[in-house]
Amino acid sequence: MTSRTGSARRIDLHTHSTASDGTLSPAELVRAAADAGLDVFAITDHDTTGGWAPAVAALPPGLSLVRGAELSCRWSGAHPAVPLHLLAYLFDPDHPELVAELARVRAAREERGERMVALLRADGIDVRWTDILAGAGGGTVGRPHIAQALIRAGLVSSTREAFGADWLGERYRLPKEDIDVFQAVRLVRAAGGVPVFAHPRATRRGRVVPDELIAELAAAGLAGLEADHEDHSPAEQAHVRALAAELGLLVTGSSDFHGTHKTVQLGAFTTGTEAYERIVAQAGGVTEVASG
Ligand code: AMP
Ligand code: FE
Ligand code: FE
Ligand code: ZN
Repeated sequence: MTSRTGSARRIDLHTHSTASDGTLSPAELVRAAADAGLDVFAITDHDTTGGWAPAVAALPPGLSLVRGAELSCRWSGAHPAVPLHLLAYLFDPDHPELVAELARVRAAREERGERMVALLRADGIDVRWTDILAGAGGGTVGRPHIAQALIRAGLVSSTREAFGADWLGERYRLPKEDIDVFQAVRLVRAAGGVPVFAHPRATRRGRVVPDELIAELAAAGLAGLEADHEDHSPAEQAHVRALAAELGLLVTGSSDFHGTHKTVQLGAFTTGTEAYERIVAQAGGVTEVASG
């Protein structure tokens, strides 16, 4: 494909591969991004940089790759703490403290998954942890992998149903280990990365944090807010844009593509060139990769 420059670039800064809970391998994701007509895309698997190398290796001419991750975080200012997601772009993947935190969170996800399976099995539901772990294929384990086991067992017919209150949405859901969001912002910056709050107003995903917290995070080093995302209503998108303008934060839009684990397509929401260039300008961990 030919690359486009200037304001016409199509930029999608939030996607998942099999390194976490997406269904395309990193190499397949890269090809899908090219086929979708993207000029720039970010790989942002949950709590891992495991997809970076195979994605770089598969990069075709005309497509730029932003290496990133989506960190599982919490805000402890409410009880119980509010879980939230922090996108981190272009950070040093060898920063020792960040590496240690990601490894801790991934290990805890495995324990949590195994405990969720134990809860299901205690109710006579025949799903096996070894199958689920194998289904994750070495990637960061999450509820979508347990959802697949429920589908394989014929207990639910879709991922959406598996995330209902009777299943993984509530009844069998356990909290995740995560990183304090202020520590995460500090660590991402220390590793030369650029932190952006993922879907900060997505009330349909659960509780959201107050604007005051976002202002505090901005003061602590947060770079931007993801406004355009399928989990935001139009009013929520507008609110996030207004808040970003007030706080001097950049605004992104992204698909949060997960392959067939979700229905959203690559490029369904995109980021403006200026916001993207602000991210690149602030980054000092790794560079964006453009082959060819
Ligand atoms: P976990 O990180 O294990 O708590 O699982 C959360 C992941 O599940 C998110 O990153 C999404 O990929 C996925 N997810 C959450 N809610 C839904 C939903 N209603 N339908 C499909 N996937 C979902
Ligand atoms: Fe996910
Ligand atoms: Fe997310
Ligand atoms: Zn995501």
